[in-house]
Amino acid sequence: MTTAEPLTQQTQQRLADRLKRVWADTHPELSPASIAQWERCTCRACGRSQLVDVLCLGDQPPANAFLSPGDTGRRETRFPLSVRLCENCGMLQLAHVVPPEMLFRAYSFFTSSSNRMGEHFSMLMGRFVEESVPSGGLVVEIGSNDGTALASLRHRRVRVLGIDPARNVSVMAASRGVPTITEFFSEPLAAEIARTAGPASLIVACNVLGHIDDLDDVCRGIQRLLDPTGTFVFEVPYLGDLIERAEFDTIYHEHLSYFAVRPLVALFQRHGLALTRVEHFPVHGGTIRGTVVRGETLTDSVRRRIECEERMQLAEPSTFARLDERMRQTRESLRSWLQMQRDAGLTVWGYGAPAKGTVLLNYCGIDTELLPAVVDSTPMKQGLRVPGTRQPIFPPGALTVQKAQRALILAWNHAAEITARECEFQTAGGRLFTPDLREWKHEPGGVEFFGDTPGGFRQSLDVDVY
Ligand SMILES: [Zn+2]
Repeated sequence: MTTAEPLTQQTQQRLADRLKRVWADTHPELSPASIAQWERCTCRACGRSQLVDVLCLGDQPPANAFLSPGDTGRRETRFPLSVRLCENCGMLQLAHVVPPEMLFRAYSFFTSSSNRMGEHFSMLMGRFVEESVPSGGLVVEIGSNDGTALASLRHRRVRVLGIDPARNVSVMAASRGVPTITEFFSEPLAAEIARTAGPASLIVACNVLGHIDDLDDVCRGIQRLLDPTGTFVFEVPYLGDLIERAEFDTIYHEHLSYFAVRPLVALFQRHGLALTRVEHFPVHGGTIRGTVVRGETLTDSVRRRIECEERMQLAEPSTFARLDERMRQTRESLRSWLQMQRDAGLTVWGYGAPAKGTVLLNYCGIDTELLPAVVDSTPMKQGLRVPGTRQPIFPPGALTVQKAQRALILAWNHAAEITARECEFQTAGGRLFTPDLREWKHEPGGVEFFGDTPGGFRQSLDVDVY
């Protein structure tokens, strides 16, 4: 289609108009009609309209829209959090799109705040620069955050450019000497960069594709910007892991797509791009890294991945029916456990206020009656309240000072770290649990967890992850 560019601009204009209309209101209550405007009826990967509803997590506020003290008097805007499966290509995706301007202009995660993630991305950059970037070549990172990964290339003879719509993180990138365009990546922007800085030998996008509604536009942008022999590398959380461990609290409005290999192949093929290699590793609860080049070849290794996914039944509605059942069990067991603690006179606080915590609390209907407060070590979040369920957020020290007897670790991917850190709380008799109701204890030799798993929050759904 030759009208791609005008269409994109038109879409952007429509977006801007809607934003003005909807978000300029200081009491943004969306009517059902305006919410319907944000509904998506075609598949993000293959473009077809064979979408079936498979999961519903209710109407939820955006998971990172923490409330400041002045906001507590207003009602929050809630969007449906429902998930659809494409019967044609197997892509799992959200049905509704929260305006990206609301989600990504001020981002609350800084890559540099996690040493492990900083090292991970720096190693990725180093490896692919060695593999595919000639001296003086251009490296572009989409969603470059605070510039941590690109800054790690400062001793190599390459040119770097970051793109990130979040103004706050871009300021940090600039202070590291990483040139950054504060914009959403799009085909017109890619064309502009190709014109002014030349084609890119390497384009990297880590944990970004899931955030973008118009993946066709991204692929067209990569087509415009990528050198004929260049490489596009991306990382995304893997659907196989979400299913296998029932990580349903990683479903929230910022994550529009939940990727498996087959739909990714379908997406890239439509744009003359080929996914040639897929690596799977346990970052963020399970991530895949894909390598993409120009062309249409389907490699044997990618074909084998697709066959594995067929065996895992990743595109079968029955798989999601089992996940839905598991979600309901988790909700019931967690609520009844919290009620039991309350009836026994024990106070349970949340530990960590990540986006996944917001999802879990809202999906399970856990308000301040059952869980009065939450602690989090991020200073930016302290003093705010959890979206929807409204728990106030305190620094971790408050747990002991306020004499909470139990802590529910909402940031369950950091459970071992948190348990090791909270010795004082445990010495004073405090006990730590993850949402699967396993108990965590710090022992002289390390951290151990105890107990049965009544809720099955992360029990296997009997699929094999390769
Ligand atoms: Zn599809």
